[in-house]
Amino acid sequence: MDRSKDIALLSSWIDGADKITTVSHARPDGDAAGSSAGMLGYLTACRGKDAVALFPDPVPDGTAFVLEGMKSTTNQGEAAARLQSTDLLICLDFNTFSRTEGLEALLREFKGHKVLIDHHEEPDTDAFDLCFSDTRVSSTCELLYGILLGMPDISGDPCRLPMPAARALMTGMTTDTNNFANSVGPGTLSMAGGLLSAGVDREDIIDRLYHSERPNRLAAMGEMLSSRMRLLPEGAAVTILPEAFYQRHSLLDGETEGFVNLPLSIKEVKLSILAREEPGRFRISIRSKRGVSARLLAKGFFHGGGHEQASGGKILIPDDIPDAASAEEYVSTITARFLQEQDAAQNRK
Ligand code: 5GP
Ligand code: MN
Repeated sequence: MDRSKDIALLSSWIDGADKITTVSHARPDGDAAGSSAGMLGYLTACRGKDAVALFPDPVPDGTAFVLEGMKSTTNQGEAAARLQSTDLLICLDFNTFSRTEGLEALLREFKGHKVLIDHHEEPDTDAFDLCFSDTRVSSTCELLYGILLGMPDISGDPCRLPMPAARALMTGMTTDTNNFANSVGPGTLSMAGGLLSAGVDREDIIDRLYHSERPNRLAAMGEMLSSRMRLLPEGAAVTILPEAFYQRHSLLDGETEGFVNLPLSIKEVKLSILAREEPGRFRISIRSKRGVSARLLAKGFFHGGGHEQASGGKILIPDDIPDAASAEEYVSTITARFLQEQDAAQNRK
């Protein structure tokens, strides 16, 4: 895909802007934090811009290190004031403003140029003035890496990327691929090679991401695997994590990240669905193996969406279920029926 014209346009908008603001999605993951920090690192060090990253919710401790030394906020009032004086808005790792939840109304009102850089299906292109959208890349970080390499001052040489940006991009790509397990293409590995040759310390990133857990997380994982996960004969694993589970293990925000992937290591499990209880709702995470669409399950039944093999959504109380105790039955019934229908459709082909 030739993006050089779009990159030249973005570069000219950057030239013309004093204050640039980025924004990413609610409950930011590593790709959201990494792409925001990658963009900020570039804009400040290479283009001398005043750049601030907005997030609807705090970035979890595990990935917040990429934003060290950068300006970011989750405060609504600060976000509103910042947008008043912003010349250019860059939206990272989401396809529609509704994924920014509490910030949605403010962002929609923003009058300056809005740029989208994202890798989700069905981008709301009408809401943006310029869209970089590619669902084939591993991560928004990979897409942004390609865009930054196309900038006139970087001209294809990853060694010209400022180190905080390079490190952040490697971090976000690593978490979104689940450390090179999913959605890895030739471009992902070229990016990793380019960033390593630029001097990014990958071992340090791995230590920070995967070797810095608290024992609480492992104890919670043990309970999940031994007594929370239910296997359905249709090839699904259903896991409900009630609020009491989070309290029992004193878990912090983001500390059950990745739990939804664990059941996929069982041969017969084609799809894993995990529901986390929050006040008035459950948050749903879905992961699937090739051939089963996590996205259609999230979109069709859980007010959500995402990627083919990784998606999310929610269950609302009382709209969908009368009370929290009904969640397991509800999720199991919907998931079993979904897999039976997918199987039937496959057999008809
Ligand atoms: P996670 O399970 O890590 O929270 O989310 C996995 C993926 O599902 C995200 O990268 C995002 O693409 C998608 N996703 C999660 N929650 C939602 C949601 O509420 N709505 C939509 N449309 N997508 C979601
Ligand atoms: Mn992403």
